[in-house]
Parts: sequence; structure tokens; C-alpha cells
Amino acid sequence: MGGATTHLAGRADHAAVRRANLAVVVRALRAGARTRARLATDTQLTKATVSSLVAELAGRGLVRSGAPTRAGGVGRPGQEVELAAERVLSIGVELNVDYLCGVVLDLAGEQRAVVRTAFDVPGRIEATAEEMADLIVDLAGTALAADSAVLAGVGVAAPGLVDGAAGIVRVAPNLRWHDVPVLDLLAKRLARAPLPWLPAAGGAEPSRESVDVLVDNEATLATLAEYAGGVDPAERDLILVTGGVGVGGGLVVDGRLVRGSAGFAGEVGHIAVVPDGVLCGCGRRGCWETVCGLGALLDLAAAPDDAVHDHRRDLDERLDLLLDRARHGDARTLQAFDKVGRALGHGAAMLVNLTNPRVLVLGGYFARLGEFLRPLVEAELADRVVAPNAGGVRVALSRLGLAAAATGAAHAALAAVLDDPTLVPPTGAPPSAREALRKDTA
Ligand SMILES: [Zn+2]
Repeated sequence: MGGATTHLAGRADHAAVRRANLAVVVRALRAGARTRARLATDTQLTKATVSSLVAELAGRGLVRSGAPTRAGGVGRPGQEVELAAERVLSIGVELNVDYLCGVVLDLAGEQRAVVRTAFDVPGRIEATAEEMADLIVDLAGTALAADSAVLAGVGVAAPGLVDGAAGIVRVAPNLRWHDVPVLDLLAKRLARAPLPWLPAAGGAEPSRESVDVLVDNEATLATLAEYAGGVDPAERDLILVTGGVGVGGGLVVDGRLVRGSAGFAGEVGHIAVVPDGVLCGCGRRGCWETVCGLGALLDLAAAPDDAVHDHRRDLDERLDLLLDRARHGDARTLQAFDKVGRALGHGAAMLVNLTNPRVLVLGGYFARLGEFLRPLVEAELADRVVAPNAGGVRVALSRLGLAAAATGAAHAALAAVLDDPTLVPPTGAPPSAREALRKDTA
């Protein structure tokens, strides 16, 4: 009896080690194609183990042979192995006050498609879920070029406090949402769509459970995107401050995303910077986002009937209008930039004093207007941070643009496959047989 248990435990351990090693090889190949010999060196696994792992990954359609290479010029040329990145895709969606943004990433983390669509979210729940599902189906249709491609899952980025485990947006003041079960609303709709989801652990038939949806805070996911391949992946201490209607943030300290005891860390937009200031969407007064959020900028920059206030127009287009005016020396626009840039730097200095990051990344509209806002932020930091030279912080502009949170959501949705490549069934297995194969390999 005891012997049988030990035997089973041994098999389970072996399978876990094998999955972990497959994950190590996939992650190594995300950095670029390499020979089995090089993979063995990089992963500190034996060449025999690497060959066996590569064979299994090939059977699952995750890698293929690349170019032959003659490293060092001596001996047999080695065949490079490369990731078949198009085999697994993930989709990230950001829902924001007046737009939805969707991004498709492949297994290598490269962007395959991106779309942004103007949509009024506040107060609308069912309509937003419907619009999100349509956007995901359309994006999948565009990006699923290879017949064998599978969808790892969907990540949703929401502005507000998110209960990730339950997939519920608890409070999103700018959306006027309370306790909205985004995961349920979306998974229910996506389960009806004919998309090649990875088979769920529990059942073979497409169902609500077979659609892997995760929901998280937009700024947290944007920070993940910056850390996963944004401005400077080598930095282990960074702060992201991202500007939209709300102002969000994320802190990475010593290589770890700071989530807080209940997962609600990073609500920088609601740090009170103006005692008894104007009313914020959260019901409090003088929050940071009331002085440097998009609303504050637009109100300062243009009269209410100006085109930059038109929610039906794409945000990038409206920001281009402002940039154009500022570059032509328009006084009102420049004054607005100056006021907002200083308010942004004021709050940023508090965060820099708090965590002494190596890099402060400006994201969202702050990055878009970076040529004007960055010098103002740098001046405020120089002034207000107590450490010499502002503690050595560098102010960088996000290159991910308005797609940062959606990109982070797609990264998060890929994580399960990166951690366990055996979630991807062997190629050629008909969908009905996938479950049986999973049981065999479990
Ligand atoms: Zn607030």
C-alpha cells in the first residue's frame, strides 16, 4: 500500500520536473533560436535531456528546426531549434472609460495584432461585455493565421480595484462599476464562439470553464508589460505611472511587483495631493488624478466644445491635435501641459522618495505627450526628491503606448502555457481526442 503511494508520488514528481524543464526550454527559446548544445549550456540540462525535451515540444508543435549553424567553425554544424511562436496566441483586452483596446501576442511575446475602438463604457455592463467578446472574436479571426494555432486565454485589464481570484471588478469609479463579474460575463459569451481554446483541465467539450479568462488591474498589467519587455527589462526597481482618465501606477521593487496584502497596491491616482481640492471620481477630494488625469488636461487645454473633448474621436487623434497646437506654440495648450506636467512631477516625487527606483516609466497619455511632460517631471523630481540627483532615477517614456495594459493582459494570459507547455496538445490530435491525450500525459 505504502509502496504504491510512493510509486505514484514518484511518477507525479517526475511529471512535474519534466513540465518544469519543458518550460525552461521554451523560455530560453523566447530569447531566440539556438542549437541543442547551446540550450544545454543555457539551461544547465544534459544534452540528452534537452534532445528529449525538444522532441516533445516539436510533437506539440511548439518548436521547429531553424537554420544550420557552425558555431566556432569546428565540427558538425548544429541545427538550431526555434520557437513556433504562432502555435500559441493569447489575447489581452483593456477596457477603459471611452475605448476598448485589444492585443494579440504569440508564444514569443511578440505582438501579432492590435486594435482600439471607441466605446462608452461607464454605467454599461452587458453592452461592454458584448463589445469585448466581439472584439476578441474579431481579433482572433485576424491573428489565427496558422491552422494549428491555439488560444491560451484572454486577459482583461480594468481600471479599478479588481478581485483577480473571482474575476470581479469591485470598484471602478470612472466606469461607475461596482462588483461586476467580468470573468463570468465574458467567459459565458466566449464559450459560444467557435475559437480554438486550449482544452480545459476539467472537460473536453467547449464550455464556460474551457475559456481561460483572467481579470486584473490595468496599471498592474501595464507594469507587467513594461517589466516583460518594455523600456528596460534589466531594471529590477521601476515605477510606472500611467495617464488616462484615471492615473494608475505599478511598483516593481527588487524584481517583484508590489501587490499589497489584498492586491490593491498601486492606487497612486488617489493619493491626496491637494487638500480640499476638486472632487474625484472616487468621491474624495484632491486626488492626484484630478490634477494630472486626462480630464484635467483637456479642461485646461481647450473649451468644452473643442474637438479634443469629443469622446467619439480616437484618443490618439485628440492627443495629436494637442501636440500639434503645442508645437506651434499655442499658449493655452502649453500652459495646460506646464500645469499638468508639474502636477505629475509633484506626485511622482512622492513615489520616488518612497521607493528610490532606477527608472520611472511614464505611460498612457503621459508618454504620448512625453516631449513636453518629461522635462517638467524631471525638474520637479530634481526639486522635490531629497536624495542627491533624485536618487539616480531615470525618467523613461513607455513604448507600449495606449496598448500597454492590453499587452500586459495578454502576457498574463500566456503565463499558464509558459509555465506548463504540456497544456498544448500534440499536433494533429482532433479536439475530441485532446482530453484523452491529456489524461495519458498527466
Ligand atoms: Zn480619487
